[in-house]
Amino acid sequence: MQHLFEEWQKQRGQQKKANQKFLKGIRGAQSRQLGETAGRLHDEVFAVVDCLACANCCKSIPPILNETDVRRVAKALGMRPSDFHQQYVVVDEDGDMVMKGKPCPLLQADNTCSVYESRPKACRQYPHTDRAQFADNLKLHATNSQYCPAVFHILNKLRQLNLK
Ligand code: SF4
Ligand code: SF4
Repeated sequence: MQHLFEEWQKQRGQQKKANQKFLKGIRGAQSRQLGETAGRLHDEVFAVVDCLACANCCKSIPPILNETDVRRVAKALGMRPSDFHQQYVVVDEDGDMVMKGKPCPLLQADNTCSVYESRPKACRQYPHTDRAQFADNLKLHATNSQYCPAVFHILNKLRQLNLK
């Protein structure tokens, strides 16, 4: 598993352009078929990548929050939503509500999430490479491959498949 992280750290920068070009080229692919193929690779990669040994998403990308997230996470922390807003929420440059700070203030020292069962929807959906999400998020994957070793390896495998 360590070699997967090392490969990602060494190659992610130089492969970003190749990934952007590749993802642009498969925009016309049948989304159901693409979702199935990418979903299979997602399962393969996440069978060997241990998120608890990584947590790079929680350390580097503040998740977007909606009001339902705020109410649920605040409840899990035993806080009022207004207090949660004050302590943990900021509005980013795109006008979205996001968690305040990097790493996420709810990330614990052992890389677990202190509100895992109640975590925001964006955290549950990241990195958007499963069957249901891959084809609808083609514009995100090249950027996410810079933050997430799993996305990097999923794209590497997908590029080798000669998809049309
Ligand atoms: S809420 Fe939990 S899963 Fe989401 S970024 Fe923070 S620590 Fe990670
Ligand atoms: S960046 Fe990717 S591999 Fe790392 S913890 Fe997040 S989802 Fe898992």
